[in-house]
Amino acid sequence: MSSNHDRVIIAGSGLAGLSAALRLAPVPVLLITSGRLGRSGSTCWAQGGIACAMDDGDNPEGHAADTVAAGAGLSDDRVAKRVAHEAQRCIGWLWDSGVRFDLADDGRPALTREGAHQHSRILHAGGDQTGAELMRTLEAQVRTTPGITVMEDTQVVDLLVDDSGARGVVAQRGTSIFPVSARAVVLATGGAAALYASTTNPPGNWGSGLRLALRAGALLRDLEFVQFHPTALDLPGNANTGRPLPLASEAIRGEGGVLVDEAGTPVMAGVPGGDLAPRDVVARTLSRQREQGRRIFLDTRDSLGRQFLQRFPGVAGLCQAAGIDPVNQPIPVRPAAHYHMGGVQTDDHGATNVPGLWAIGEVASTGLHGANRLASNSLLEALAYAGWAAEDIRSRTGLARGTPLPPTPEHSAQLVTRSAMTGSSVLRLRHLMDTHVGVIRDRHGLEQVQAQFRALRETAEANGALAAMSEVAALIAQAALTRQESRGAHQRQEFNAPSPAWDRHQVIGKGTATAQANDSLRNESPVA
Ligand SMILES: Cc1cc2nc3c(=O)[nH]c(=O)nc-3n(C[C@H](O)[C@H](O)[C@H](O)COP(=O)(O)OP(=O)(O)OC[C@H]3O[C@@H](n4cnc5c(N)ncnc54)[C@H](O)[C@@H]3O)c2cc1C
Repeated sequence: MSSNHDRVIIAGSGLAGLSAALRLAPVPVLLITSGRLGRSGSTCWAQGGIACAMDDGDNPEGHAADTVAAGAGLSDDRVAKRVAHEAQRCIGWLWDSGVRFDLADDGRPALTREGAHQHSRILHAGGDQTGAELMRTLEAQVRTTPGITVMEDTQVVDLLVDDSGARGVVAQRGTSIFPVSARAVVLATGGAAALYASTTNPPGNWGSGLRLALRAGALLRDLEFVQFHPTALDLPGNANTGRPLPLASEAIRGEGGVLVDEAGTPVMAGVPGGDLAPRDVVARTLSRQREQGRRIFLDTRDSLGRQFLQRFPGVAGLCQAAGIDPVNQPIPVRPAAHYHMGGVQTDDHGATNVPGLWAIGEVASTGLHGANRLASNSLLEALAYAGWAAEDIRSRTGLARGTPLPPTPEHSAQLVTRSAMTGSSVLRLRHLMDTHVGVIRDRHGLEQVQAQFRALRETAEANGALAAMSEVAALIAQAALTRQESRGAHQRQEFNAPSPAWDRHQVIGKGTATAQANDSLRNESPVA
């Protein structure tokens, strides 16, 4: 008979968490999520789709080559090939699970193109509702799969670790905090872009998983690489108050949308790749235009016209809610923090260096994205590594079948408060990230912001959201300060190009920082 320890705990219920739970079945899983199943995390908002080479003339090698080119020297070629080759299996698994992708007239999946992809290879659902379709389908499966127990509105606030590795988590629900033991723990807590006030991410995605992993002894890698999406809707009210900025998917440019200034002049003309240049290039161009006081618009009137409403119904709804008519008006857009390439360092199975601890999805750094993620590769990465981690956990723990009982929060009573994401100090921290750790950084700003984060930490309540968020923010700012070059999404004012001396990863452990050569985890040297 299995005991309550004979289970796997998964923290997070985005695509990574839900697919890992389903891939582990019938192994007993306790899925703990800070939000509501199917409604929390970035996944539900994903628009563009999932990358998979399946068009005539396309192949996984081409997909991998585009991934590595976007990664600006820090993507692992072997990882990119492995993930690209896994894509068709992932799409097949989703299809078998009931996800319905949009189909072309010939009955095959309709494929669109996004920035820096050399082929049309993005599958989508409901036009621009890919994430919502994924979550709807997988949530229904999770709720009816024997062996999966779900705890919603519950936050993992610490990991239980002993000499032999991760042994469970400390969870918080309301004002109750309680330990929950397990044979394996999977972090699927998403990214960190909500550390910025100008963000496309939901409020819970401020990098809590990075902090949990670091405290448990796991290594974090390449934290300085934050992707800024060039075309969030430019709604100053949201950016000022820290509410997420709705996204206008890159697929809109893939289908002819053009970035223009107030005078209607195309702003990407003359830049290699034009409107479909890699995201970092477009975000920097737009950011510089904005510094000069210009506003930028996404103009789809000639390319899509009324078709916009059918092809991008979600974005059309978001525009209309903001008083913008996307059929007859250019859409005001701006860069916003969108995706964290950095994360918990993992191996081919999603395993961290701490025995018993895995990390999958956006919280992980697998080597796929390098310095800049290629569009629509993150949903694919979450799916691929959920499958590989599930296999690894099953074989390493020998767990087979059972149904874990939910733990009873009443057993403990220590109070930990969590301030709201909109609290004034938290908002100040998020504006500091916008100003000093944004699209273009410089040494002075990064040094200054460290002192401000320290001051915020000193005023913060121990264990509160502000203290935790400023810890993660300080790690990202420090990594950005240490990397003395411009590469991919990390642009330093003082350096106009990548430096061969920095053709390596930056790894942080508890109290240590090391550099790693791209192709070997053993070749480490201390960072000055
Ligand atoms: C607007 C938008 C559009 C996007 N479009 C695309 C796209 O078209 N294609 C693509 O490939 N990528 C896209 N991305 C990126 C992609 O959606 C994410 O990288 C991906 O969904 C991450 O999945 P995840 O499961 O790792 O995390 P998430 O989906 O973010 O889920 C994280 C989960 O962890 C929970 N959580 C967080 N902290 C804790 C904690 N401490 N304890 C317990 N639970 C916790 C959250 O409640 C949530 O359930 C988009 C992102 C955004 C924001």
